[in-house]
Amino acid sequence: MSKEKLGLNTICTHVGEIKDEQFKGAVSPIYLSSSYEFLDVDVKRYPRYFNTPNQEYLSKKIAALEHAEAALIFGSGMAAISHMFLAFLQKGDHLVVQNTLYGGTLNFIKEEFPKYGIEYTFTNGYKVDDFEAVIQPNTKLIHIETPSNPLLTITDIKAIAKLGKSKNIVTSIDNTFASPVNQNPIDLGIDLVMHSATKYFGGHSDICAGAVAGTNEHIERIWNVSKNLGGSLSDMTVWMLERSMKTLGLRVKAQTKNAMKMAKWLNKHPKIAKVYYPGLKSHPEYNLAKSQMKGFGAMLSFELVDDLDAYQFQKSLTLIKSSMSLAGVESTVISPHLTSHALLTLDERKNVGISDQLIRFSVGIEDVKDLKQDINNAIKRILK
Ligand SMILES: *Cc1c(COP(=O)(O)O)cnc(C)c1O
Repeated sequence: MSKEKLGLNTICTHVGEIKDEQFKGAVSPIYLSSSYEFLDVDVKRYPRYFNTPNQEYLSKKIAALEHAEAALIFGSGMAAISHMFLAFLQKGDHLVVQNTLYGGTLNFIKEEFPKYGIEYTFTNGYKVDDFEAVIQPNTKLIHIETPSNPLLTITDIKAIAKLGKSKNIVTSIDNTFASPVNQNPIDLGIDLVMHSATKYFGGHSDICAGAVAGTNEHIERIWNVSKNLGGSLSDMTVWMLERSMKTLGLRVKAQTKNAMKMAKWLNKHPKIAKVYYPGLKSHPEYNLAKSQMKGFGAMLSFELVDDLDAYQFQKSLTLIKSSMSLAGVESTVISPHLTSHALLTLDERKNVGISDQLIRFSVGIEDVKDLKQDINNAIKRILK
């Protein structure tokens, strides 16, 4: 059975299942051993070697979803991204990284890279020229995020992959926002795809995990660093992640559909000043998004008009929760200036376009009519 031929939902449901040979149960057993036989075995298994049965098999599902040869699962998205960076960058190397970036990734680079003697440059924008302009002779990795957090900018994935190949530079992408349901960067030539599995992979706001997918060679290179740094995920959580991922396709497609409806509605709303969503024709990279994404995703951001207080607005929502994280089946909102980008100075925030009126909206699976009503009620409440 060729994995490439399987449909998305079949991969989600079946690839990487562990057959329960002993009792013939319908789902993968959990193997909680932290100690395995070492005499006469093909694989010396150990949780921190990322190769317990549950880790090894769930990796196959993630690799299949990202059309990659291999994958590794981590204890968090930041473990995935930090191990990936440290595998491809050493003292004296240079990273080119997008300026519109997940706050945690930005902090990791700024706070940790100097300790390792790794150089980096943030781009001035998200266009290919912005990346090419800052490449140095010692650049070893280009890292992009598209759609980006929280302004949903779109970077040309194919063009970045081509740029990297032309200069012998490895390319990586944070594919968390799109998920493999809406975007497969490896098909567009990107080398490494990472995910905060805390988000859509988990999907129920109850798991913290991460993943990286790529070629066997690249994943082995990361593994060589990861086995030293640790950061593997407990098998109990790996099993929960497997359960969650069976519905990844169903969930993300439903959320994506809802997001499109909400974006269109918010875009016409008199109390909303601006909507950022790549599925709107008014989005500056709508055509690019359409060409490289299978769906426009379920994340959007909007700015409230000036006479509405963003803090009061979020307090007044009853169904939609204000929440640090994103991508659960429940809709959530967040003020980026109070959370992910709180460590930036006001000037830095202005530079990347994050105003105090900006609300990031992670659209869930609820009925759209109820989401609309919750937003309208909240606005009415604070206008009083
Ligand atoms: C949450 C997130 C991360 C970090 O993942 P954790 O699981 O919180 O460590 C990285 N990138 C993006 C886009 C995210 O949303």
